[in-house]
Amino acid sequence: MRNVVIIGSGPAGLTAAIYSGRANLQPLLIRGVEAGGQLTLTTLVENFPGFPKGVQGPDLIEMMRKQAEEFGTEFKEGNVTRVDLSQRPFVLELGEERIETRTLIIASGASARLLGLESERKLLGHGVSTCATCDGYFFRNKEVVVVGGGDTAAEDALFLTRYATQVNVVHRRDQLRASKIMQDRLRRNEKIKFVWNSVPTDILDPAKGEVTGVKLRHTKTGDETLKACDGVFIGIGHSPNTRLFSGQLEMNEVGYIVTRGGAKTSVAGVFAAGDVQDPVYRQAITAAGSGCMAAMDAERFLDAEH
Ligand code: NDP
Repeated sequence: MRNVVIIGSGPAGLTAAIYSGRANLQPLLIRGVEAGGQLTLTTLVENFPGFPKGVQGPDLIEMMRKQAEEFGTEFKEGNVTRVDLSQRPFVLELGEERIETRTLIIASGASARLLGLESERKLLGHGVSTCATCDGYFFRNKEVVVVGGGDTAAEDALFLTRYATQVNVVHRRDQLRASKIMQDRLRRNEKIKFVWNSVPTDILDPAKGEVTGVKLRHTKTGDETLKACDGVFIGIGHSPNTRLFSGQLEMNEVGYIVTRGGAKTSVAGVFAAGDVQDPVYRQAITAAGSGCMAAMDAERFLDAEH
């Protein structure tokens, strides 16, 4: 029987492991399919405190992993296939394997939705990004495309106007989904141009290892055009990785786990941290902070039981 099992190995899960390890709880951390989380998909991280010259996303994760290991975290590769939170101890299954635990910290993150183009996958981290806050700085005096019409795309586009000479918002319809206030801000900003009724069909140029433009298809006429640009930000939303817990924990209307009073979920003894419960901030540092909260909440929960 485990004291603490942590699902997820991004900054939220690893910070929860560091804290619960130092509290002598011998945590077990299950790394999941996208081990290391979204930071492993990015290159230079310049906004994580403590690194005045920046740090590579994968390196930051590796340092956190070592730090968690230092304090007695046990790591397990693989993916949880089923959980039962209806009784305590909670039961987790990884295929044939069955794990019982007194507390559970869910830090399974969210995945940025992608368009599904091969060129997009190849250029991710090389001009294609899913995080304007992380990568906008690299596009100083450059022209970029933002794909999407919701609040994420709107926020990304506005943020990017700080650096880019022009930000082209490519949307598949002729009306934005973003909130009215964001729409007004976009329209008032001279650096922002709209490309309506268009979807990217290809991103150039994987052979060069950098972005030189985007092929666009008009959704009404089918016409194909080429838009030259230096970067592409995919802002078509995120999906929280919560399918496993569906029907067992309270979630909001788009599937994020609801936390209250710190990291507490609707089931006593189950805590959530990082992007899986945060549709708003979604930063490495906020994820790490909430991982700390989850570990402290789990520790207090176990203390109160004894
Ligand atoms: P949304 O689902 O609201 O918007 C996604 C956008 O991407 C839509 O415009 C959609 O088009 C478009 N899209 C989806 N899939 C594709 C695709 N395959 N190809 C092209 N375009 C596509 O996601 P968001 O992340 O923007 O927002 C999620 C939630 O978080 C919302 O409730 C939002 O309000 C909230 N949020 C709030 C923020 C804030 O308050 N500061 C910041 C960011 C998000 P279509 O419109 O045609 O469906």
